[in-house]
Amino acid sequence: MERRDFLRISAFGLASAVIGGVSAGNVLPSSGGGRSDSTRPGHLNLRFFPYELKLKHAFNLAKYSRTTTPDVQLEIEYDGLTGYGEASMPPYLGESVESVTRFLSSLDLGQFTDPFRIEEILDYMDGVAPGNNAAKAAVDIALHDLVGKIMRQPWYRIWGLNPDHTPYTSFTIGIDTPDVVRRKVAEASPYKILKVKMGLDNDRQLVETIRECRPEVPICVDANQGWTDKEKALDMCHWLASRGCLFVEQPMAKENIDDTAWLTERSPLPIIADEAVKRLDDILPLKGVYDGINIKLMKSGGMHEAYRMATLARALGMKVMLGCMTETSCAVSAAAQLAPLAEYADLDGNLLIANDRFDGMKITDGRIVLPRERPGIGVSLL
Ligand code: MG
Repeated sequence: MERRDFLRISAFGLASAVIGGVSAGNVLPSSGGGRSDSTRPGHLNLRFFPYELKLKHAFNLAKYSRTTTPDVQLEIEYDGLTGYGEASMPPYLGESVESVTRFLSSLDLGQFTDPFRIEEILDYMDGVAPGNNAAKAAVDIALHDLVGKIMRQPWYRIWGLNPDHTPYTSFTIGIDTPDVVRRKVAEASPYKILKVKMGLDNDRQLVETIRECRPEVPICVDANQGWTDKEKALDMCHWLASRGCLFVEQPMAKENIDDTAWLTERSPLPIIADEAVKRLDDILPLKGVYDGINIKLMKSGGMHEAYRMATLARALGMKVMLGCMTETSCAVSAAAQLAPLAEYADLDGNLLIANDRFDGMKITDGRIVLPRERPGIGVSLL
């Protein structure tokens, strides 16, 4: 069988799987989704449906806790090939199943006949409405998957990156009771770096609990904008440096630029921007305020902009971190294609959910392993 014929048959099977997923009740009720146009040969055909992600553990941050993440799964079919994409919408980013469905329904991708014109298609989406970055990421990821499949190459290869040069990924330990933290640390034993979410009064106790379980493991800290006093933040950075911490992510509110710059100048640890940076335009004003940026596809609007952000940050001498939301292996594997450009990675979102739909990138001995031979974003449906 010709590879192309095989892919055509696979695409047909996957469309059936989507319909099966809906009837199996994996979707949020009456939230819309569907097809923006009927399948037309030689044109981009968009399909999408809501898919609620079930978290293995409640996800506790300084300001809230949750057990599910709203998500929309998306496909672009073109000439018998299917590209997969995904929008994950943690509540704090301001998008929802409803907003993503509304934005995707407003698109006319059927007007495009060449999926290689990624720049033109992304410009078109930005012209339809500002924001909606997760919805745009879903389309961008599916386009990249499709183009890679047409080229029969994975994106790390198209970008000229060495798949051996991927960083270790951290595994996130959320805010919780010491007993739960001990259990989570035990579960995270394959990981070489642990990420600690902070922002409550018991921050030091959380670190000490982890240190009891694994005295040598490097940690990184994400304060999620939770620190308000720059002097205390600096004290904490010195203490964390003495406890084997590698860097601190978003210590203070993203609007608090002057105090963050003050802290970055004095901190023994690199200070990385997360909430303060979404897209390419955000980076230049942050030079001198932060040491690096955390790039996430759901913030950047997808892989195309994420690649440009990594390139700009490196040119400015800033560190690159690659992060994710709770996502299936679809979006996480798409982000992993960029991993050779990153000093740090936090690509554990697929490991936090109980209902992944895809097989994709793997973590082996704590390091990101890209699927070498799979084209596009490197995933196949489970
Ligand atoms: Mg963060």
